Amino acid sequence: MVKIRPDIARMAPYEPVKPFEALSRDLGRAPEEIIKLDANENPYGPSPLLRQALAHYPWYHIYPDPQQVELRDALARYVGVPAEHIMVGHGADELIDYLCRILLEPGDVVINCPPTFGMYDFDARLSMGRVVEVPRDDAFRVDVPGIEEAVRRAGGRARLLFLTSPNNPDGGLLPEADLQRLLALPLMVVVDEAYIEFADQESVATRVPTTPNLVVLRTFSKWAGLAGLRLGYGIMPLALMDALWKFKQPYNVNVAATIAGLVSLQDLDRLQARVAALKAERDRLYRALCNIPYLQPLPSQANFVFCRVEGRSARALHQALREEGILVRYYDKPGLRNAIRISAGLPEQVDRVVEALQAWAS
Ligand SMILES: *Cc1c(COP(=O)(O)O)cnc(C)c1O
Repeated sequence: MVKIRPDIARMAPYEPVKPFEALSRDLGRAPEEIIKLDANENPYGPSPLLRQALAHYPWYHIYPDPQQVELRDALARYVGVPAEHIMVGHGADELIDYLCRILLEPGDVVINCPPTFGMYDFDARLSMGRVVEVPRDDAFRVDVPGIEEAVRRAGGRARLLFLTSPNNPDGGLLPEADLQRLLALPLMVVVDEAYIEFADQESVATRVPTTPNLVVLRTFSKWAGLAGLRLGYGIMPLALMDALWKFKQPYNVNVAATIAGLVSLQDLDRLQARVAALKAERDRLYRALCNIPYLQPLPSQANFVFCRVEGRSARALHQALREEGILVRYYDKPGLRNAIRISAGLPEQVDRVVEALQAWAS
């Protein structure tokens, strides 16, 4: 008999995301015809310099640099913090898992503020943490007194607080005053800034060197179009870096992802122009959605717009769009009843989704 750890044996099976090619067969449409606005991916793709760089790289048969020195130096200039504070990962997702594993003993408390990104809860449970939920309100505002109370109740066992700014799925920013208050709590505060490049606000990463309980997570997946290559990073206090260097898988980031990160940072002007275009499309999408009677969009600082569907079925809307080859994210869970999230796309993609939404109204 194979003996699996009981908490893992009890876990619900993972619902796999269909590969893009399989999806294209299911929908009976060529991949180029699918308007994929369901996962906040970047429709411009990576820097066009990347293909060349990957094609000419001579050392694929040599193991990567486990310390990622060149990429971390480039990131230090991009973020504005010393490289000794930067840990690179196989996506920001890997760093969420690492943080849980180095900070949690079984039964330690992780505070999560849903509705938000799903990986904090998933990784905390995998590390045998106890997840205490302090839900956001209807406007997705974080409940600061509720978090303070949850920390008190945890009686010294609260270790980690996950905050997301801009938050996924609504796109709202964490107010500065909330962050200040939460940093006074005796636990590690992780601010996930996966979408900060799309916000009209500076990253809080530059404060990490002077704030011993602040971690900031960032990623190349969204702004740089590298979701498929998996490259994220964390800006960490030095005490955490010491632990992470001992703990991390030596070759967690492969050479293709490393090259992609370096090329992106060398081609910043172009990628930032694309980010500006996506922000403009996000705002145009938001304004168009405001004029559709059955939708209630929220203003967003990320590359997507969340909307509640009023008086009609979001599930049916999701399905109707799918039949036209338009994919959006559909939600039906606590705090996210009857709602959809639409990623900002190319101008013609935004035109198409808006036309489809207007047509569904009549
Ligand atoms: C997409 C997303 C991530 C994932 O980042 P990867 O680098 O692709 O692992 C992390 N946090 C949030 C809030 C996200 O929406």
